[in-house]
Amino acid sequence: MWGKLITATALTLLAFTSVAVAQSGQPPFATRKIDGTDNVYLFRYQSHQAMFVVTPMGVIATDPIGRFRPEAVTTYLSEIKKITDKPVKYLIYSHAHFDHIAGGKPFKDQGAIVIAHENAKKHFELAKKQNALLDSVVMPDQVVGNQRMISLGGTNLELIYVGRNHSDSSLVMRLPKEKLIFLVDFIPIEALQYRDMPDNASPIELEDSIKKVLALDWDRMLPGHPNAGGRLGTKKDAQDHLEFLQELSAEVKKVASTKCIDAAMKEIRLPKYEKWGNYEQYLPGNIERYCYWWTQAY
Ligand SMILES: [Zn+2]
Repeated sequence: MWGKLITATALTLLAFTSVAVAQSGQPPFATRKIDGTDNVYLFRYQSHQAMFVVTPMGVIATDPIGRFRPEAVTTYLSEIKKITDKPVKYLIYSHAHFDHIAGGKPFKDQGAIVIAHENAKKHFELAKKQNALLDSVVMPDQVVGNQRMISLGGTNLELIYVGRNHSDSSLVMRLPKEKLIFLVDFIPIEALQYRDMPDNASPIELEDSIKKVLALDWDRMLPGHPNAGGRLGTKKDAQDHLEFLQELSAEVKKVASTKCIDAAMKEIRLPKYEKWGNYEQYLPGNIERYCYWWTQAY
């Protein structure tokens, strides 16, 4: 969620979130089996989550969530080990943002094939030239364009690219039999978009990608962050989020020529959503993004 750039603010936010989790009395990590499935699990470490699927032939894991905290990765692997002694065969990145995908080396060391969207690999190659921290990111062995099916031990997992949204490399991971999707950061459950929605070409592209997700066949969504009390999402959540974006877009459009950017960021309110996560913190940034769109078409 925290994007590609390492900033003091992002680090502060990360620290703050960790403290908030500790103060809420929640244990630092947890693994739960998803009701109604034989082999699908959601691993949470502080405020990040990753799905893994256990099959007789090995494990399909997602996002290492180990940025600045290698202990998250060792915990993740020991949680898997409690369920199976089979190795992780695949490690799939949800998108290119380091808070979700850093720390994959222990997976790679046990032979996992690392898979990401093709744009993610381009980001990593570029970042490698300018950022030593990329040492903690394992390069993908294989890349996906628009779609790919992973099959292992009787489980099929579909990887689907639905266009640019919160990143230009987001893969929706769909388990067709279970009608589940693992989807990270671009449809927060009862929560706002991150800051000014960086890393897309337009907020309209983000809306379009949510429409594509709504058109897929699924019932429940496993998210990359435990918003709304950590529950799973539904199609109604995706629809509600799309409506939030469309309502915000309409409000910004009305005042774009007179108030964008600064006055709009201060004055626009959407009271209907004030109970949503990060409302006060991110509403101005979400407004800023639509201001760029409605004044300059980017
Ligand atoms: Zn992200």
